Amino acid sequence: MSDSRHETVTPFPHLMRPLRIGGIELPNRTVMGSMHTGLEDRHRDAGRLGAFYAERARGGVGLIVTGGIAPSATGKLQPLAGTLTSRGDVAAHRRVTDAVHAAGGLIAVQLLHAGRYGVTPLKTAPGTEPSPIHPFRHIRLNAPLIRHEIAAFGRAAARAVAAGYDAVEIMGGEGYLINQFLCPRTNDRTDDWGGGPANRRRFLLEVVSAIRGRVPADFPVILRQSVADLVEGGQTFEEIAETARACARLGVDAINTDIGWHESRVPTIVTSVPRAAFVDFTENLRDVVDLPLIAANRINTPEVAEEILARGRVDAVALARPLLADPHFVAKAAAGSPERINTCIGCNQACLDHAFSGKPVSCLVNPRAGRETTLRLTRARRPVRVAVVGAGPAGMAAAVSAAECGHRVDLFEASGHLGGQFALAAEIPGKEEFAETLRYFTVRLEETGVNVHLNRRVAAGDLADHDHVLLATGVRPRVPDIEGVDHPSVCTYADVLSGRVEPAGTVAVLGAGGIGFDVTEWLTTKESPTLDLAAWEREWGVSRDPDNPGFVTEPVPDAPARRVTMLQRTEGKMGRRLGKTTGWVHRAAVRAKGVEQISGVTYRFIDDAGVHVTLSDGSAHTVAADTVVLCTGQVSERALVEPLERLGVPVTVIGGADVAAELDAKRAIRQGTEAAAAIDDRVRVPVH
Ligand code: FAD
Ligand code: NAP
Ligand code: SF4
Repeated sequence: MSDSRHETVTPFPHLMRPLRIGGIELPNRTVMGSMHTGLEDRHRDAGRLGAFYAERARGGVGLIVTGGIAPSATGKLQPLAGTLTSRGDVAAHRRVTDAVHAAGGLIAVQLLHAGRYGVTPLKTAPGTEPSPIHPFRHIRLNAPLIRHEIAAFGRAAARAVAAGYDAVEIMGGEGYLINQFLCPRTNDRTDDWGGGPANRRRFLLEVVSAIRGRVPADFPVILRQSVADLVEGGQTFEEIAETARACARLGVDAINTDIGWHESRVPTIVTSVPRAAFVDFTENLRDVVDLPLIAANRINTPEVAEEILARGRVDAVALARPLLADPHFVAKAAAGSPERINTCIGCNQACLDHAFSGKPVSCLVNPRAGRETTLRLTRARRPVRVAVVGAGPAGMAAAVSAAECGHRVDLFEASGHLGGQFALAAEIPGKEEFAETLRYFTVRLEETGVNVHLNRRVAAGDLADHDHVLLATGVRPRVPDIEGVDHPSVCTYADVLSGRVEPAGTVAVLGAGGIGFDVTEWLTTKESPTLDLAAWEREWGVSRDPDNPGFVTEPVPDAPARRVTMLQRTEGKMGRRLGKTTGWVHRAAVRAKGVEQISGVTYRFIDDAGVHVTLSDGSAHTVAADTVVLCTGQVSERALVEPLERLGVPVTVIGGADVAAELDAKRAIRQGTEAAAAIDDRVRVPVH
């Protein structure tokens, strides 16, 4: 396909150009980066995994890379992790590759040996240093075991060919086994496999040779290479460059670049990381090797991808979570309608947080991800008139989904804008991405023909003509029963984030859940570092010095915009219930701003002096505060439930209106989608 043809039909000409990697040609410059979905591990899930990938292949992605598959029993991420070590494995993998090929796609298997990152007692690693973030001590590899692991990579690659894969990717980054060999941090060996860079590189080079020796000459071998370890004791640029050169000489066909280790104290993929933050690290390899280079991490829109590719120093972009969020990302970009893309907001809530908790992976903004065969929005047999009340995440998802099923939908919203509490979330520094979800729903509501009525606070009587009501009236901030809570210094998080109140002087934040942390970041931040790469790198201590092994340095956060004290009644460390993969980032960000945190308090009263509390040791203490911000949870807004019940209108209560406790947008959007899919003119859905 010629370049000029693409240029006439797409605003993303560089993104849509074909790319050759070894013996295959990708129809465009997108690669679905490896992502563990939880469906790789058991043979019985092969059909679901095939359906998941096939949907992405239909959506136009150039090449899919599977989640990490262990080449040996000792390389597993966890005891039941997926492998390519037997004929039975080959048959299961064949079901996946067949599904992708039937959908017109290409698929590579990623061979991943977890090394000391395995959560299994059988794990092996090159050095003595244990994993700081995983249980079990590893077995230190001796020379015969090293040979065994190298041969296992070769055998697994041969099985990948037999299973119908179009390419193999060697996981050489993220702190897994190969990366552990490469870095002094984890390789303290004194034999042929450790010491200087050449010895530390030997394991990877022998793996590449073993694989090349077992696959056809034109079968593409891709290296996932760490180009910034972001840990102390990592590799310098020259070490990385020499590894790339040596791999190119041995027949690697492309380098898919990788950033950071799981134990890095620099965030690499959460929403507060600036878009395309690490592309320069990939670009640096342009002058080193003449192989296709693939850039990854926080590339979540076609505009960003196009800009990177147009610079001409990178050949393709890896999109992992963006294709969970929207399997048709590439097709929509190709069609010139990027505004229709459901953008990944980098929240990790339904993908990585699930993966690290052993739950099947899905997506906050797209609950159908991973449930392609079970959560379907099929045309209703007899469309009905549906009222959705409340245009927060639950209501927007419900309205769009009901309309997709063919129902006639009215969406009523009391305020003058869409989004509910989620629109407040988008005000938090580092959560700017959340505005993309509001843009997506705005476009979809229009496309699906939903009648949106803003500034319409409805009463039950307004809904009598509808056949079904989806009640998504959400939550309001909880005002706790503390003496003086009506003092003029007191306001809610909603007052602050909506701009109704400008917090003055020193501030006390009551409540340290997700909103307490977010509001504290808002209060202490002058300019969001997410929008300024240099500021963000200073805040997290990223070094650009090529001689710095690991590219990490001392963080230098900006001075706080306000003096803030956080308070909670519960004893112990704050923020323990924050997201598994994101909580540490919030805790570190607040710590860096010098925020005082006091746990285990009993609130006594609030007055001109501030918040008077009893500390856990029984002593009285006054937290000086000119402004007191309540982040003390939320209560459901359910005023319409009973009146609708009395009217006899069928109602399904969803999102925060259903249950306020542990509410998040993930549940709200999932419930909204499921409730819409379940509307059926034959069944009267019971009132909750
Ligand atoms: P809401 O968002 O409360 O929406 C309800 C809507 O109903 C409102 O727009 C309201 O005006 C409207 N309404 C009420 N009564 C009526 C009526 N009678 N007629 C018409 N309209 C009515 N969640 C996450 O998952 N991840 C996060 O990182 C995250 N961060 C957050 C940060 C902040 C600062 C805040 C405030 C929230 C955050 N949340 C986050 C929570 C998330 O926004 C909520 O869980 C979600 O918005 C709840 O959705 P909902 O649709 O149930 O209700
Ligand atoms: P939350 O996590 O339940 O926290 C509420 C806080 O208020 C707690 O710290 C609690 O602490 C305190 N509190 C509760 N009742 C109180 C009372 N009667 N008096 C005084 N203090 C009280 O809820 P949230 O922070 O409001 O967040 C709401 C939802 O939004 C959460 O469920 C969360 O999932 C979602 N959210 C998610 C993120 C994210 O990054 N994933 C970010 C923001 C919000 P003590 O009881 O110890 O005082
Ligand atoms: Fe992206 Fe959040 Fe969806 Fe994960 S859950 S794919 S981070 S939007």
